Amino acid sequence: MALQIDENLVRSIVSEVVRNIRSGATASAPAAAPSAPAIVSSSGPAYGVFQDVPTAAAAAQKGYEQLRAKGVAARKQVVDIIKKLAIANADAWGKFEFEETKIGRLEHKIGKLHLVPLVPGVEWLRPYALSGDHGLMHEEYTPFGVVAAILPVTHSVPTLSGNIINAVAAGNSILFNPHPGGARSAALAIRAYNQAVQAATGIENLICTIEKPTLESFDAICKSPLVNLLVVTGGPGVVNAAMKSGKRAICAGPGNPPVLVDDTVCPEKAAKDIIHGCGFDNNLLCIGEKQVFVLDKVANALIRGLEKAGAVRLLPAQVEKLAREVFTMKPDAGGCSHPVLNRELVGKNANVLAARAGLNLPEATPILIGETDADHPFVMEEQMMPILPIVRVKSFEEGVALAKKSEHGYKHSSIIHSLNVDRMTEMGRAMDTTLFVKNGPSTTGLGLDGEGYLSYSIATTTGEGITNPQTFTRTRRCVLVDALKIY
Ligand code: NAD
Repeated sequence: MALQIDENLVRSIVSEVVRNIRSGATASAPAAAPSAPAIVSSSGPAYGVFQDVPTAAAAAQKGYEQLRAKGVAARKQVVDIIKKLAIANADAWGKFEFEETKIGRLEHKIGKLHLVPLVPGVEWLRPYALSGDHGLMHEEYTPFGVVAAILPVTHSVPTLSGNIINAVAAGNSILFNPHPGGARSAALAIRAYNQAVQAATGIENLICTIEKPTLESFDAICKSPLVNLLVVTGGPGVVNAAMKSGKRAICAGPGNPPVLVDDTVCPEKAAKDIIHGCGFDNNLLCIGEKQVFVLDKVANALIRGLEKAGAVRLLPAQVEKLAREVFTMKPDAGGCSHPVLNRELVGKNANVLAARAGLNLPEATPILIGETDADHPFVMEEQMMPILPIVRVKSFEEGVALAKKSEHGYKHSSIIHSLNVDRMTEMGRAMDTTLFVKNGPSTTGLGLDGEGYLSYSIATTTGEGITNPQTFTRTRRCVLVDALKIY
């Protein structure tokens, strides 16, 4: 099967998808998407979908050995298959995931799959070599073997597709423990990927998953001697669990990205960018704008710009009413109260949130905004909803300090709208985040209408950054002594 991905074609598809997303148009025709086939058949090959960890890990180990025997050409074939199938099935899988998880926006679920070809493949791995008086040295980026990956419910198939490309390009097989809320979507895509991989290369079960994942299956994966590396994409609970597992873990952890807007930019442009990033998939992206700090003197202009671009402003009483729906105050061990997120409202449309505040809005409303103080739970909690708190600040310095506090040291993402290079530098240094976007929507940080490559797993907690094939490799040195220096 000849599957070549044309880079220029990919770029033009991506630009089209981003344009459609920005204009609010549906990326393609989801209504025409075929209904999804049954995931597991009682007979026939597993195509990577297993009931228990020992069987799945053993199958993934065999998949790894077959890939190793077939070399880099087979890795490239697999990467091309994943990219091609992600696009070909974007409508059907986007619809399936939307119906399974019931969060986000259908057109953005589809859009995220169209973007998968932006994930780098085998071309990323370039050995490092030296030649000198004592001969040759080269360092190669070699596989770990079986990599296990934990998926978030916020982007099940996009994250798994990116993880597969990264891991397989580096020569590994991969075993998933998806979020239970997105596990059927994951299994659906994995079956299709394995069928195509097996037809093209003969390799079986290169990509494996647990059909009904649980905390116990996560634990069994952590204890499996066949699993050599974990990649975790999720919130604080799973990151902590992975770090304590005893396995090497790449952790793409939580974020709470602040935006700072100063008085040097066009407020209308900043407003449009903020809505684009915050409204994308109803703010499910970990990089999405979660709270805004704006210099007092331009706050009214920014709010007008946000309203002009479609955001709906809640009055203070409505903000508080919605906050009571979104958070429950529970006493913690110290006797104080802390807000607990109502998961039912995560990723819901702005009009659904507005209804909880007593407002009737059209479904197309991209985001809600409301003025709050800097300590409000909407500011301090990663709520993953299209409700954006706006905080007025008296000075740039105060804005940076509050932005930093609201990010909680996750070192994830932050955004500034400013034309003052000194301020950009100051905020970049102070925030110390993995992604720092200047004068654009947060999504540009992942290569969507910005420079750079894509991954839906940004290793913030453990510091590898936006994951790529090299992240999934062991560096090994090979030395030839006193020979083959040919000059
Ligand atoms: P979540 O933490 O609830 O779940 C993530 C995964 O971890 C799921 O598969 C879940 O089943 C599992 N899990 C949760 N607690 C666990 C535990 N104690 N032990 C073992 N497994 C556990 O997160 P979610 O709602 O699915 O996803 C949203 C979170 O993920 C947000 O915090 C978001 O910022 C983060 N995220 C980060 C990135 C990144 O690249 N850094 C990307 C996407 C999402």
